[in-house]
Amino acid sequence: MVTCKTIIGQISDYLEGNVSAEMRETIERHLRGCRRCSAVYDSTRKMLVIMGDETIFEVPEGYGNRLHSFVDSLVAKAKSSTS
Ligand SMILES: [Zn+2]
Repeated sequence: MVTCKTIIGQISDYLEGNVSAEMRETIERHLRGCRRCSAVYDSTRKMLVIMGDETIFEVPEGYGNRLHSFVDSLVAKAKSSTS
C-alpha cells in the first residue's frame, strides 16, 4: 500500500524520469485519486518550469524523452552556475 508520503518523496524523481516504470504507474494512479499529491506534483512541476525554460509548456501529458532532455539541460545549467 502506497502512502502520500511515499508519493511526495518520489515526485521530483518522477518528474526527472528517475523512477521505475512500476513506480511511475503507481504515482500516476495515486495522483489521479489524490488531490493533495496532485497539488504537490503540480507545484513541483511548475517550479521545474520556472527553473528551466518555457519549452516544457509544449510537453503534453506523455512527458518521456523530451522531459528527460529538459531535466538534463536543467542539471547542466545548475552545474555550470554552481562551479
Ligand atoms: Zn496522496
